[in-house]
Amino acid sequence: MRKPYVAGNWKMYTDPASAADLAGKLKLSLSNATWCDMAVFPPFTSLAAVIEILKGTRIAVGGQNLHWEKEGAFTGEVSAVMLKRLGCNMVLIGHSERRTYFGEKDATVLLKIKAALEAGLKPVVCIGETLEQRESGITESVVERQIRAGLSEIPDISEVTLAYEPVWAIGTGRNATPQQAQDVHKFIRNLVSQCWTQDIASNIRILYGGSVKPDNARLLSEMEDIDGFLVGGASLNADSFTAIAEAVK
Ligand code: PEP
Repeated sequence: MRKPYVAGNWKMYTDPASAADLAGKLKLSLSNATWCDMAVFPPFTSLAAVIEILKGTRIAVGGQNLHWEKEGAFTGEVSAVMLKRLGCNMVLIGHSERRTYFGEKDATVLLKIKAALEAGLKPVVCIGETLEQRESGITESVVERQIRAGLSEIPDISEVTLAYEPVWAIGTGRNATPQQAQDVHKFIRNLVSQCWTQDIASNIRILYGGSVKPDNARLLSEMEDIDGFLVGGASLNADSFTAIAEAVK
């Protein structure tokens, strides 16, 4: 039985004070949410404040990106080891905004996942097709390529969470229907069993992301292969993130 998982990607929003305020509200509103695992991904500059507030709670904290080297002359980058030492236990890898705007490729996703696991961080790895790819009928081959090229060299992915995020649904207010999302989640789970083992496929959590809101979360979460959500916009409001966590109960 997979435990539901609800994660909030705060993108490039919040400063340390507003992040601490949001984290403080979540600490209160989600203190009894034992039915799901939870994580938030604040921007780097808000991590320390959020880690401090959420210490000792069930809400994990992670970075939104990392560099695969431990340290070095890589101006502007932050390593997995640095995130871990700061107190993070999670990291987001391969978000479509990183792929679209910053040239993130499957090959660098792979390096980042390896670095995260080596540093003891649990990665949430994002995959998903663009609108053009969906309309051309190649959704499955796109996510298959992302999984094979980005993950299949990793012998054991039991510490990895996958997030299926159709790019056309991110920040657009247009979510995938429960059936559209379920179909891709089922395809991903079957692929995981082919590339790794049936046991890993049965246990890995596959989150859906893309315009998840309190009013569409319940129907999506009722689908067999949807194990929770990666939430962007709606995670910046404590009430709506809490309502989404309530919906996966
Ligand atoms: C995201 O940032 O991963 C995301 C899914 O955003 P939104 O919920 O705003 O579509």
